[in-house]
Amino acid sequence: MVPKVVFGQGCFDQLGSILAPQRKDKAPFIFLVDDVFKQNKDLLDRIHLRFNDKLLFVSAEEEPKTTQVDQIVKDIKSEFTYKPSGIIGIGGGTVLDLAKAVSIMLTNKGSAADYQGWDLVKNKAVYHVGIPTISGTGAEVSRTTVLTGPVRKLGINSDFTPFDQVVLDPELTIGVPKNQWFYTGMDCFIHCVESLNGTFLNAFSQSYGEKAYDLCKEIFLDEGLPDEESRGKLMMASWHGGMSIAYSQVGVAHAMSYGLSYVLGTKHGIGNCIVFDHLAEFYPKDVALFKKMVKQHNIDIPTGLCSNLSEAQLNTMIDIALSLVPLWENALGEHWETIMTRDKLKELYIKM
Ligand code: NAD
Ligand code: ZN
Repeated sequence: MVPKVVFGQGCFDQLGSILAPQRKDKAPFIFLVDDVFKQNKDLLDRIHLRFNDKLLFVSAEEEPKTTQVDQIVKDIKSEFTYKPSGIIGIGGGTVLDLAKAVSIMLTNKGSAADYQGWDLVKNKAVYHVGIPTISGTGAEVSRTTVLTGPVRKLGINSDFTPFDQVVLDPELTIGVPKNQWFYTGMDCFIHCVESLNGTFLNAFSQSYGEKAYDLCKEIFLDEGLPDEESRGKLMMASWHGGMSIAYSQVGVAHAMSYGLSYVLGTKHGIGNCIVFDHLAEFYPKDVALFKKMVKQHNIDIPTGLCSNLSEAQLNTMIDIALSLVPLWENALGEHWETIMTRDKLKELYIKM
């Protein structure tokens, strides 16, 4: 779990005093910042670089790759003699995952791809701080960093992955475009649905999942919730949703969305929405709620993505989805293979 967290409007300004005691002589703090903030003078003025600290803008255009992590680590190692005092990620799930992965790879040999899987990391990561600027993924609280590698899209799941400190300032999410707000927010809603309806469910996951689920309903279905309140609630829903899956698993939507992402590069939030829209058979009550939310907020959910795929592409998509065994076990139980056959998956994909 994340051992330290601050929450509240404007708490981003505490960053300086949070970092100060962690500073090691001659060792810089490296700030990885979403390049959507490149022109945002207000935010940049609030990041105080000292000594040899460095700020790197990173694009969230594409989701993080193992090769990208390796390159950032190589650049840091060649520029600085001392291992950084810390890595600070400021952005959405993409940048938060990069920050986690870079902090791990600064103290572990080889490529990030060598550590995709469960509990493969040997050494403690460099001190790392997560500061979300969009809410929903739960990446700020989770024990994984999801990376696309040479053979698969899979997380580095380890005890060294979670942030040492998280700064939750709902004001930082002002300015997120509406569709993106919805897609990433739905990632949280879908985490709850998949956790609460999964066979791995237990009291720990349920307690967090139910809270996040209720918050999502309030945020996306109640009319007249003030923006300020809605931002704070979504930030906490994301946190609780992340905690819920930490001790259970995600399900059908995530498994299928990973397939889409691998073959077509479809991003996580929107990919989950595209898939979830067609999963009434598995999550009837919640797909109906989802459709209501889509309508209420007038959101575009793309269709026809898979209609022109080649047989080979469809097969890869199916292979990737089926390789995520724990997700299927959670969603459909021990005998999932008799329910989710290749034909069944194909039939679902071509509808999307
Ligand atoms: P994202 O980080 O990809 O960002 C989405 C878009 O929103 C980007 O264009 C970004 O620039 C923009 N944005 C972010 N903050 C903004 C702000 N304040 N104002 C304006 N624009 C802003 O989106 P995401 O949905 O948060 O993250 C998706 C990633 O998270 C995927 O790579 C996925 O694999 C990962 N993920 C990780 C976990 C985990 O537990 N580690 C869980 C779920 C998803
Ligand atoms: Zn997700």
